[in-house]
Order: sequence, then structure tokens, then C-alpha cells
Amino acid sequence: MSKPVRAALGDRWITCMFCEGSFFRDREVKLNSSGAEFLNLAWANESATGLICWDCGYVHLFANKDVELYKTKKGEV
Ligand SMILES: [Zn+2]
Repeated sequence: MSKPVRAALGDRWITCMFCEGSFFRDREVKLNSSGAEFLNLAWANESATGLICWDCGYVHLFANKDVELYKTKKGEV
């Protein structure tokens, strides 16, 4: 089981669009896979960072290499 991470883009922390939680599971998503074509993302021939909300499971997908991930322990801000 991986530890939760916080994520930032530029000088802003990324929070869940649904519950505003700030802890995520991170998962690298390969956009040039058949799965990406299924998601109609075949145009983006690069990897993306998937952030899955720790609390509600909402999946955020960033095709942006500037997303920074910070490992943390939940409850420690
Ligand atoms: Zn959430």
C-alpha cells in the first residue's frame, strides 16, 4: 500500500475537485497505451500523472510534467 502524497502545481496545492481533500494516491498513466486511446487521449504521446483522492477516490489526470508530488503521512500537514 503506497503512502498518500500531496501535490502542487506551481505555487498552488492541488486539492480534490469533489471533496477538497489534499491527499492523493499517485499513479503514472501512460497516455500512449491502448487505454489512452480508449480515453480519447491518443494525441498526447506522453505520460501523465494520475492523482486519486485518498478520501473519495476521484481521479484527477494531469498531462503536465510540472506537477510536484510530496510524500507525507496522513494527518501531518
Ligand atoms: Zn476527494
